[in-house]
Amino acid sequence: MGAQWIHGPSKQNAVFQLASQYHLLDEAAMSEENQAVQLNTHLPAVSICYTSSGKRVDPEISASMEELYSVLILKSREFFQSKAEPVQSLGEFLKREIARCAEEWKDDEEVCNLKLALLNVEFKIECCVAGTDSLDLLALQPFGEYVILPGIDCTFPSGFNSLIDEMMKSLPKDIVSFNKPVKYIHWNGSFKTPEAPEHSYSVLVECENGEIIPADHVIVTVPLGFLKENYETFFRPPLPPSKINSIQKVGFGTNNKIFLEFEEPFWEPECDLIKLVWEDESPLNNRSPDLQKTWFRKILGFIILKPAERYGHVLLAVLAGQEANFMEQLPDSEVKDCLTQVIHQFTGNPLIPPPKNILRSKWHSDRFTKGSYSYTEVGSSGDDIDIIAQPLPSKSAKEQPLQVLFAGEATHRTFYSTTHGALESGQREADRLRDHYWLHISRNPKL
Ligand SMILES: Cc1cc2nc3c(=O)[nH]c(=O)nc-3n(C[C@H](O)[C@H](O)[C@H](O)COP(=O)(O)OP(=O)(O)OC[C@H]3O[C@@H](n4cnc5c(N)ncnc54)[C@H](O)[C@@H]3O)c2cc1C
Repeated sequence: MGAQWIHGPSKQNAVFQLASQYHLLDEAAMSEENQAVQLNTHLPAVSICYTSSGKRVDPEISASMEELYSVLILKSREFFQSKAEPVQSLGEFLKREIARCAEEWKDDEEVCNLKLALLNVEFKIECCVAGTDSLDLLALQPFGEYVILPGIDCTFPSGFNSLIDEMMKSLPKDIVSFNKPVKYIHWNGSFKTPEAPEHSYSVLVECENGEIIPADHVIVTVPLGFLKENYETFFRPPLPPSKINSIQKVGFGTNNKIFLEFEEPFWEPECDLIKLVWEDESPLNNRSPDLQKTWFRKILGFIILKPAERYGHVLLAVLAGQEANFMEQLPDSEVKDCLTQVIHQFTGNPLIPPPKNILRSKWHSDRFTKGSYSYTEVGSSGDDIDIIAQPLPSKSAKEQPLQVLFAGEATHRTFYSTTHGALESGQREADRLRDHYWLHISRNPKL
């Protein structure tokens, strides 16, 4: 329902390192060649584009638009190094460049419109990768600070959970509590317990079931979406204004998945991705506000899960933003019928049987996530990510240091929105605590 690929599986990727250590990846993913490839996309290689009038797009035209988009994205990433950006958002910049390029196209109107429709699919893909509703929300200047690691994205043959299973094996039994939501984090206190009356704890974690856990330090890894909704009540005393400001500024959106399982495949075996090209769409036009009638248009296409021996015949539709939020409210039957119609329309084949099963994520309705992952929204920058990551109380304060630490993808300045970012941020905070105690011990050798 969530993370599926290791993005950029290579030596600098902490998830890849762990997965390799545990021998969880297949030969292709482990090969040096795979690790060396530098791509600028997170999507599978072989794609076929179908149009809303049931035709297949000439692969030469679709490849040329993919290439144009990739050049423009590289150009967008360069503003990170420069002092001034021409416009605020990635969307505005791309649209300006596309309009400029379109003026030079010598094709007839139909082909020009098709090219714009193809570029619109790239916008939808980018929205999913970033977890945002619109590229107009993505800040242009910090866009290039997100680091795309080398390596062709790979999956875990036994699922992403195999990594968690291995990590759990190295921990003492029963040390991890599940299904125990935290209600409040009390900090800056001096809490005593009957078991250790001589020790004062700075932090108390209060769970929804009434359980209270005293601690010297707590590392908070709740999603930014949860923080945005709950920062006022979750921390007692409240967070400092600078942290609240950054929590509000950094973006957090929805990326949802819809899995459709078919009895038989209707796609070609070599195809990895079916892109859906709505011929009347263009990145230069505004999209319709009527979500009931148009939510499914935000789906970029269908990723084909491979190998079939492992997954069965399964297509994965992905969509982001307010359309993804809207989809969560609909019943399974409506989503299934709607996507069956879309498949009939785009393949031009009304005889394809409907999927036998549907499974989908609802990341926005989940009160513990309220979305999928973070992005640098217009008005925010990497500095805000660093501010969210700063431990409390701040260094200048006289109180017991490192009471509340922050980790999770939204606290990683260059790898936000990924599992390797989340993992590295946890290691960063563990190192912070380790260093704190090393310093303490080295200053007090008797300890
Ligand atoms: C659809 C989708 C696809 C993705 N695909 C990929 C991918 O292919 N590759 C990749 O690298 N990344 C991917 N990601 C991103 C990746 O899943 C996240 O970046 C990563 O899981 C973030 O880890 P985290 O620990 O910061 O937060 P999370 O994984 O969100 O974990 C935070 C946890 O805190 C819990 N929580 C919240 N509030 C409370 C509370 N009050 N008390 C107790 N617990 C609480 C939540 O329930 C949750 O379990 C994807 C994400 C989504 C949603």
